[in-house]
Amino acid sequence: MGFCIFNNVAIAAMHALDAHGLSRVAVIDFDVHHGNGTQTVAEKEPRLFFASTHQAPLYPGTGAVEETGVNNNVVNAPLPAGAASGQWRRAMETRVLPALDAFAPELILVSAGFDAHKADPLAQLELETEDFAWAGRELRKSALQHCQGKLVSTLEGGYDLGALAGSAAAYLAALQRD
Ligand SMILES: [Zn+2]
Repeated sequence: MGFCIFNNVAIAAMHALDAHGLSRVAVIDFDVHHGNGTQTVAEKEPRLFFASTHQAPLYPGTGAVEETGVNNNVVNAPLPAGAASGQWRRAMETRVLPALDAFAPELILVSAGFDAHKADPLAQLELETEDFAWAGRELRKSALQHCQGKLVSTLEGGYDLGALAGSAAAYLAALQRD
């Protein structure tokens, strides 16, 4: 809805289902904005799972807890402006990751936006670079547990270039760590 022309992750997810015959694809979205386009696809597609942490209220205004898709295949964890590491990690640990594990994906796609970093000028979450490394470690664990490590990350938001570079590098290093 203004930030992208094509929704790369949603297209990839549908391609994995329809062209490659997968039956369960998960999308994890930690971009600070709600992934409303991905949710629009997932909420009528039970072969998809979509979970998002995001600031609310904030553009685009969707992503309430009550938006749960079909068979609860959509999990929204909105966080208020000012929420920092502890609150975000709790949302991941108590809502996003358990639901991801219960879904038992054959492929995990990540909408890896880094605009929840405290230095980002477009939003007011207060994440640290190390939080993205933590997310990488947790998602790597799930990928190894459920889908032989099959995880694809797509770069999304991040509008402070220093924070974006540092966070993306920390996230990728954590994904690759043994
Ligand atoms: Zn964003």
